[in-house]
Amino acid sequence: MTQVNVKTSNGGTATIGEDALAALRGGLRGAACTTDETGYDDARTIWNAMVDKRPGLVVRCAGAADVIAAVRLARDNDLLVAVRGGGHNIAGNAVCDGGLMIDLSPMKSVRVDPATRRARVEPGATLGDLDKEAQAFALAVPTGINSTTGVAGLTLGGGFGWITRKFGMTIDNLVSVDVVTAEGELVRASESENPDLFWALRGGGGNFGVVTSFEFQLHPVGPEVLSGLIVHSLEAAPDLLKEFRRIADNAPDELTCWVVMRKAPPLPFLPEEWHGREVLIFALCYCGGMAEGGKAVAELRALGQPIVDVVSPHPFTGWQAAFDPLLTPGARNYWKSHDFAELSDGAIDVLVGAIRTLPTPECEVFIAHVGGAMSRVPPDATAYPQRTSHFIMNVHTRWREAPQDEECIKWARKLFDSTAKYAVGTVYVNFMPDDEAGRVEQAYGANYPRLVKVKARYDPGNLFRLNQNIRPAS
Ligand SMILES: Cc1cc2nc3c(=O)[nH]c(=O)nc-3n(C[C@H](O)[C@H](O)[C@H](O)COP(=O)(O)OP(=O)(O)OC[C@H]3O[C@@H](n4cnc5c(N)ncnc54)[C@H](O)[C@@H]3O)c2cc1C
Repeated sequence: MTQVNVKTSNGGTATIGEDALAALRGGLRGAACTTDETGYDDARTIWNAMVDKRPGLVVRCAGAADVIAAVRLARDNDLLVAVRGGGHNIAGNAVCDGGLMIDLSPMKSVRVDPATRRARVEPGATLGDLDKEAQAFALAVPTGINSTTGVAGLTLGGGFGWITRKFGMTIDNLVSVDVVTAEGELVRASESENPDLFWALRGGGGNFGVVTSFEFQLHPVGPEVLSGLIVHSLEAAPDLLKEFRRIADNAPDELTCWVVMRKAPPLPFLPEEWHGREVLIFALCYCGGMAEGGKAVAELRALGQPIVDVVSPHPFTGWQAAFDPLLTPGARNYWKSHDFAELSDGAIDVLVGAIRTLPTPECEVFIAHVGGAMSRVPPDATAYPQRTSHFIMNVHTRWREAPQDEECIKWARKLFDSTAKYAVGTVYVNFMPDDEAGRVEQAYGANYPRLVKVKARYDPGNLFRLNQNIRPAS
């Protein structure tokens, strides 16, 4: 065992001596890994293969006590700190070069109490972990559409998916959290305890401390939901999208329909001659009764002449993982996102045109359908500010080889720029890449000044700076 050099927040180096390292290790339930030790590469490898960073030291936490020890080490030595939950964030702030990485991924416990319909979730749990435990009792929390995403980062940014229109965002179902502050103290935050911190954590990301436990309200869902894909030729997209926006505007809260436009993957139920050709996919989920669902989705199913329609009852856990095969870790990814109040004719033309010039077969544009219960929460009730937009566009650029970086990123930026005039200006922080630091204030809109004040109170030294950073008021 030797000393280890770790980067500080101002770019210098702190040496953690042999005795200090031994003391840290002696107090941990988990592990402290230096660059050549077992667990180091697992911890630093995240979903987006564009990110290949090498921390100076990784604390792989087994519980809140380990998190406290890691935060105190960082505070006492002014270390640069990265915090990893599920490791899915596109910006790659879960890992850093040279600094201290606090890896929460070993903390995966999920405990559901069916009597109170509450769940206690540790910050390394994935959406799939949460769904599997909650669905044992036909319960669910609204989260996102890819089961390997981390509950922690998704929740702290807001969180929306297939049942958000019915039950609200993930943060709207958050009852309390345990947080280790920049001072290394564990505090609880809820509507009644540290309410300003609780407000900021619901959308403000990892700026305010390290969450070691999330408590959620659950809702009856499933075990089956009416769900599936309707696949159309891209040729029909302009007309279909105009019909879609009308149906989406009038949809019951139980119905959510996202649009995906891309080159068709080799899905087993899709005729082979369509593989690799440009398509528009309606991906839909109705989270109420099957009979009502059948009526609610009928209009969407009747549109145009689909290549294939595979809408039927599916287990909720299965539908929550339906996009996993297209979103596996290990590819290079770059995203750009806008919030839209409406899907205008102009936006439709630009989007459909862009799909004809996709730089690689794995690139796609998602249009998430939101609103419903999410929109009935006042914009200042939580840090997440955008409650009235109805569609969230995410340009998922995805490719395999580094020489394609420039072409793919350029394509995403061009589409982003040409759709900007149709957007409302805010953006979901969880969809922001690492080069959008200048967009954070815009992302939070009118909630930004209050976030700055809460940051100044809980993290005046900006210990938690590797995120979509809210700088503390001076
Ligand atoms: C394939 C894919 C699909 C997605 N689909 C959806 C979707 O349908 N809906 C949706 O809302 N979002 C979606 N997202 C976005 C997702 O919400 C964010 O990427 C989110 O940040 C992932 O959380 P994580 O814990 O996995 O990420 P990480 O990269 O581990 O964490 C992200 C950041 O959150 C902070 N953080 C993480 N854990 C903690 C903690 N315990 N305490 C304090 N700070 C912490 C850190 O600043 C960290 O840099 C998707 C992402 C991917 C890659």
